[in-house]
This record gives sequence, structure tokens and C-alpha cells, in this order.
Amino acid sequence: MQDIHLTSEHRMFQEAARAFCEQEIAPHIEDWEKDGIISRDAWLKAGEQGFLCMDFPEEHGGLAAKDFRFNALFNEELTRIGCAGSGFALQNDVTAPYFLEMCNAEQQARFMPGMITGETIAALAITEPGTGSDIKDVNTRAERDGDYYVVNGAKTFITNGILSDVVVTVVKTDPDAGHKGISLLLVERGMDGFTRGTNLDKLGLKMQDTAELSFSDLRVPVENLVGQEGKGFYYLMHNLAQERTSIAVGSISNAEAALAETMRYCNERTAFGRQIGKFQNSRFKLAEMQTEITIGRTFVDQCVLELNAGTLTTEKAAMAKMWCSEMEWRVVDQCLQLHGGYGYMEEYPLAKRMRDARVQRIYGGTNEIMREIVGRSMGF
Ligand SMILES: Cc1cc2nc3c(=O)[nH]c(=O)nc-3n(C[C@H](O)[C@H](O)[C@H](O)COP(=O)(O)OP(=O)(O)OC[C@H]3O[C@@H](n4cnc5c(N)ncnc54)[C@H](O)[C@@H]3O)c2cc1C
Repeated sequence: MQDIHLTSEHRMFQEAARAFCEQEIAPHIEDWEKDGIISRDAWLKAGEQGFLCMDFPEEHGGLAAKDFRFNALFNEELTRIGCAGSGFALQNDVTAPYFLEMCNAEQQARFMPGMITGETIAALAITEPGTGSDIKDVNTRAERDGDYYVVNGAKTFITNGILSDVVVTVVKTDPDAGHKGISLLLVERGMDGFTRGTNLDKLGLKMQDTAELSFSDLRVPVENLVGQEGKGFYYLMHNLAQERTSIAVGSISNAEAALAETMRYCNERTAFGRQIGKFQNSRFKLAEMQTEITIGRTFVDQCVLELNAGTLTTEKAAMAKMWCSEMEWRVVDQCLQLHGGYGYMEEYPLAKRMRDARVQRIYGGTNEIMREIVGRSMGF
């Protein structure tokens, strides 16, 4: 976030987040990427130092910091060190609002303390093998049987899919009611009939465990229904603006980090007796990237403030997600070009930044769906 939007409390948090990322995360990224999964220990350390679910109430051990600037600052520090895909943002920015705003007091008491300490890792399961963009078309069926829902179906591409202890799962409770037949259930580790597939092999975000989940006659107690039956689609729509803002924050931060690394390189590397950055083409490219990042940063910071104020619209969040993730891709690609052959080597951070950036245009709703949302809001 731009300094003008930060108080001394935010700056202290930023410093603490930077120290945590550099000391506890950065030294392990390579190992976790090789393993295809971040360690549980990292989750516990993040919890111990107060970086998980900062907005949860104090009575459950949280900081009651209902201010998305804290979430954004933590994401920025993670991205700066090249830690995309830790799963922390999924917990803090994507799943936390369901527990904070839609779960009842009993559910909050059951799950919030562990989500704050990192002992309980959460996931959100919407996407299925047969449907992603068209959420109302989900097929996972939950039929009421006394005090239970009997769930059958499968989900795929689920972030924190292997590590998760509780999964906010999108199900159809009434298959004939369209989007009004969608509900959310809390599926827990160890429930009979809940199985996980292998950790999926991906182009980037190598440390993020992304998995398929299967439900076969899984019996979920009615106490695990989130909010009201049939309101799931509404809850999803309500929370997607925050998820998309979170993705936009990640995009801006990745672009900023890539540009900073490239400016260093342009100073150090010489060709034809000159620093790379002194060629007019390089100077122009650097200037264009700086301009795009500055514009994007200003817009995203504004979205964060509007999110805090409760005034961020669905279409504005969609614009931020779409434009920033596409700008991120342009910037990372151009930065790699300015590195020449070294940009293509794993020795430099650009190759990884590019791999990690690609998915930003796909998840959280594809950028085509973002264009649909914005276009429809214009009356077309
Ligand atoms: C690394 C990773 C992590 C993920 N994490 C999660 C997670 O934690 N939880 C979760 O539920 N999901 C997750 N997803 C899934 C992600 O949200 C979906 O992949 C995404 O929403 C797109 O759905 P799909 O893959 O089924 O593509 P499809 O919906 O099949 O789309 C295929 C193509 O068709 C286009 N398209 C579809 N509909 C339209 C339309 N109306 N107009 C124009 N074009 C259209 C799409 O834009 C896309 O280009 C993750 C995915 C990845 C890759």
C-alpha cells in the first residue's frame, strides 16, 4: 500500500511482516517448492506471530483488526520475497469472511481459534471437474437425512486441498432451484466419505497444495451448514469482491518486485559499453512499466479502502482483478526480456515470478468472466 494510506500501526505491522517473511519463509521457499507443499510448521509460525485471520475477534484469540490494509501488507511482503502460493492469503482473505460473517457463534468458537494459530487450515471448494466459471451449475449434491446432509460429488483445483482441516464446500441442496439451491457446508478432516486426490502438478505456485476432493456418502451434521440453506450463492457473490481485491494486490506486488529486480539488473549489466538501462528502448520500457504500476497501485489501494468502507462494488473488484493481473503479466514478461538469457534461468527470480503470475488471470473467476461482470454492469 502507498505510505499515505498507512498509520504508524500499519507501518509497525509491515516491518514485522517483512522480518517474518525474510526470516521464517524466504529460506525455505526452494524446499517447499520441491516438496510441492508448504510445511505445517510455517502455518504455526505465522499464527504465533499474529499473521493469520487478523480480523477475527479477540475472544477467540484474534486481533479484531477488521482492516484489509493488514491483509494487503502481509500479501505484499510475501510476494516481494517470491512466496506466491503459501495459502495464507486463501485463509486470511478468502475463507476467513465466511467464518467471520456467515458462521454462527458455535461454529466460530469451534474453528476460529485454530484458524488464528494455524492449527486449523481452511479451504474453499467451489470448482468441480465439470464446472468452474458457471458456479450455479455445480453438481455436488447434499441431501438432507435427519440431522445430516449426505454429500456426493467431487471438487478440483482446491487450494490448501491437502493441508486443509475444514473446507467451505459448495453443494446443491435443491437441484431444481438454480442458484437458490446452493448452500455451503463445512466439511472436516477425518469425516467418513471425505477423501483427497493427489497434490496436483502445476505450472507455477509450486509450494501450494492444490488437490481434488471427493465426497462419497459423506455425512455432514446439520450444525455444519453455513448460514441459511439456499443462500450459498449469495454468500459467494458477497465474498468474491474481497478475493478479487486480494488477487489484484498480489498482482501489483509481483509487478513492483519484478521491476525493482530489473532496475538493479539494468544498472549492473552492460552491453556495447553501456549499462542496459541506458539504452533508449530500456529506459522507455522501464518508464512504461513504472507508469502502469503506479496507476494500478493507486487503483488497488482505492479498492482496499472501499472494501474497508463496505462500498467496493462487484464490478470495480472485477476491474482490479482483470486489469492488474494482465498488467502483471505484461510487466513480468518485459522484465524477463530486459534480463536477456539470464531472465530465462532459474538463478534469477523472474522465471518463477512469471510462472506464478500466469494463474492470476484464471482463478478467482477468469478474466473473461471479469469482463462479463463489468460489461453487464454497463447495461450490455
Ligand atoms: C492454481 C489454482 C488454484 C485454484 N484454487 C481454487 C480454490 O481454492 N477453490 C476453487 O473452488 N477453485 C479453485 N481454482 C479453480 C479456478 O477458480 C477455476 O479454474 C476458474 O474459475 C475457471 O474455471 P474452469 O477451470 O472450470 O474453466 P472453465 O469455466 O471451463 O472455462 C474455460 C474457458 O472458457 C472461458 N469461459 C467460460 N465461461 C465463459 C463465458 N461466459 N464467457 C466467456 N468465456 C467463458 C473461461 O474464461 C476460460 O477461458 C483454482 C485454479 C487453479 C489453477
